[in-house]
Amino acid sequence: MKQVAHVVIPPLHDAYSYVIPGTLTESVVVGSSVEVPLGSRKTRGFVVNIQSQLDTATGESLVEKKSFKLKEIAKLPFDRRCFSEEQLHLFQWVADYYGAPLANVIDVAVPAQVPRKFERAVSLTGTVDVTLRGSLQKRIIAFLQKENRTVSQSLLSQHFKNCLPALKKLAELKIISIHEHEVIDQFKTLLHAPDWAKSAVDLNEKQAEAVAAISAAVNNSTFNPFLLHGVTGSGKTEVYIEVIQDVIAAGKSALVIVPEIALTPQLVDRFSARLGNNIALLHSGLSKRVRWDSWQALLEGRCQVAIGARSGVFAPISNLGVIIVDEEHDSSYKQSDGLRYNARDLAVVRGQFAQCPVVLGSATPSLESFHNALRKKYQYMALPGRHSSGSALSFELVDLNSVKPWEMPASNVSPTLHSELAAVLAKGEQAFILYNRRGFASYLQCEQCNAVVECPNCSVTLTYHQKNHVTQCHYCGYSSVPGEYCTVCPGDKKKTSADTPGTLVQRGAGTEKVFDELQELFPQYTIDRLDRDRVTNQEVYEEILNKMRSGETRILVGTQMIAKGHDLPGVTLVGIVDCDIGLHMPDFRSSERVYQLLTQASGRAGRGSIPGRVILQTRVPGHVSIVKTLEKDFGGFARHELTNRKELLYPPYTKMLRVLASAENTTSARALLENIKDGLQQIIERDSLSVTILGPTTAPIQKLKTHFRWHLLLKSSSSPDLHRLLNILKKTSAPKNCRLIFDRDPQDLL
Ligand code: ADP
Ligand code: ZN
Repeated sequence: MKQVAHVVIPPLHDAYSYVIPGTLTESVVVGSSVEVPLGSRKTRGFVVNIQSQLDTATGESLVEKKSFKLKEIAKLPFDRRCFSEEQLHLFQWVADYYGAPLANVIDVAVPAQVPRKFERAVSLTGTVDVTLRGSLQKRIIAFLQKENRTVSQSLLSQHFKNCLPALKKLAELKIISIHEHEVIDQFKTLLHAPDWAKSAVDLNEKQAEAVAAISAAVNNSTFNPFLLHGVTGSGKTEVYIEVIQDVIAAGKSALVIVPEIALTPQLVDRFSARLGNNIALLHSGLSKRVRWDSWQALLEGRCQVAIGARSGVFAPISNLGVIIVDEEHDSSYKQSDGLRYNARDLAVVRGQFAQCPVVLGSATPSLESFHNALRKKYQYMALPGRHSSGSALSFELVDLNSVKPWEMPASNVSPTLHSELAAVLAKGEQAFILYNRRGFASYLQCEQCNAVVECPNCSVTLTYHQKNHVTQCHYCGYSSVPGEYCTVCPGDKKKTSADTPGTLVQRGAGTEKVFDELQELFPQYTIDRLDRDRVTNQEVYEEILNKMRSGETRILVGTQMIAKGHDLPGVTLVGIVDCDIGLHMPDFRSSERVYQLLTQASGRAGRGSIPGRVILQTRVPGHVSIVKTLEKDFGGFARHELTNRKELLYPPYTKMLRVLASAENTTSARALLENIKDGLQQIIERDSLSVTILGPTTAPIQKLKTHFRWHLLLKSSSSPDLHRLLNILKKTSAPKNCRLIFDRDPQDLL
């Protein structure tokens, strides 16, 4: 009996029907990835529905009716399915909400498939009574008994030289069996997790209350979102671990998502030390095979805990007991290209589907989540202070406006920062120095005509990197060797009357520059740098942190990478060279982002027994982000910002949809959006939708990768109204030379 499969094919919107050939009826299921003919070529797709040959409505045979057109599935390249039907519901929701083809959602969610791999392996059969001859045979048996599992023949060959004849003999005696065994490369728990990570702690009162509330929701299988607010070190991770232990005890599974998992190896160590072999890791830093095997281990229920980065929110877990989103405010949860989903938001949606609690944890909650807590949509729980030493942070603000240039020990180091650093170093302690920009100089400028060197492809300045002596575009990757002289002014008579070109000078700074200055000021100490230029892979990253941990490195200069969850007890001072970076971005979230960064970075000081100290250098000492960081007043910051957002009708008080058009010429991008706006405006009026459209205006980054960019911002207090317009928009086809992008709940308006 033949059946029809509905197959979605990235990047197409619709599903296509194919007949499942008789040979594959048993093996093709919802979630299979199949090879199908499309036009004259063969392509890959995913099965999202299977129908019997009868149309239930008419009773007619669907296959016969359509058989003149329906083609057959060509092949099932992998025998394991990619996702479950339960996951498909989530994928469908995502496709609908973000206006994306279902096929693309599946493509983003499911890791690349890898064929099964087999190896020769050896296991004991159970009959060992036979008197063994050689000592080699005895040693092999002892080894296998100790391992108590199937062991690959190659591992035995490593342990016992020339053991093949002995193995053959043992197999003849039926003491062992040698067979083909599937290799599973799923992430293995570290056997050498640090001791401190292994022991459970006695929870304090607030932690215990949090665990009790969350675990109650686990046991009642109720969707219940929690906002767990606690500074770094207040014991949130302990709460997560205790809850997961309860989840496992209840026979359920847990999903944990963290930003940039590759940067938090300590966290994974801690989880695996306490939760054992139950963990599957999912992130792009793993090899394809490990990722695929981990995915399958979850899909088949062999693991109960998934820890992943952004796309981990799609993990194939059924029977969910809890979803945990650590550092929920982190903007990396929002994918910034392709399928622009927000993993934090999806975690909440998924919790609703699965009827389980969702825990959003942060030291600096996003205003969206905090607003939900104020409205009692989320249950708010705060953990007091930091756990270990209780040592408080002390802040000092340096107003750079009141320091004369000649008083500065270096262009980026104030006298205060200099003397505090000297004191810390003399005591044998360590410091973090934050400068949230890479490179040596943020741009090069002509002394004569003031022209700034820009990227030829983008409307942004090129950053000078001294180490490789290149100027680089941080948006498109363009790089070139900088010239010494301006290329604008000799030819541009409007700007200057000079006949000779002006000299290019370096303006602004970057981590490289700050690093240089500190080395000059403290030549006797080891100083290191942590940013994306320096960290080329995971090993380099761990090496930098290990050198900090061992005390060899005394000052670590870095971008926001140093603000992420490192637990380095030797760090007693955090210096923030320029608090103002990012404050003047044309984005309504700029104050929030800066507040988060300053607070997170400050939290890196004084994790040990010595109180921490934070020096903030700024030119806008009265700015709310800086003042509230200093006052350690999250509530005050949030209230101030929320009042502003409410007045200006920005999220969380409205929902936003950004419509971005990019094209090689600026008029066609603009014309497309003007057209779209007219169309939408008519629908808004006709159906009395409460949606406001701003624009079209040029995007703050007007040109990116040689394309000109314009955008519309749609704001609405009604999510369904906005959704109606998105549904209309997604049917709009852009002219050939234009690209149209929809960004629902945008995090980035550049
Ligand atoms: P967070 O996740 O909020 O940064 P952690 O859970 O990592 O905080 O806790 C910080 C440190 O304090 C860790 O070393 C942890 O083991 C310890 N800790 C947390 N809670 C307790 C407790 N109740 N008793 C003793 N130590 C604790
Ligand atoms: Zn560029």
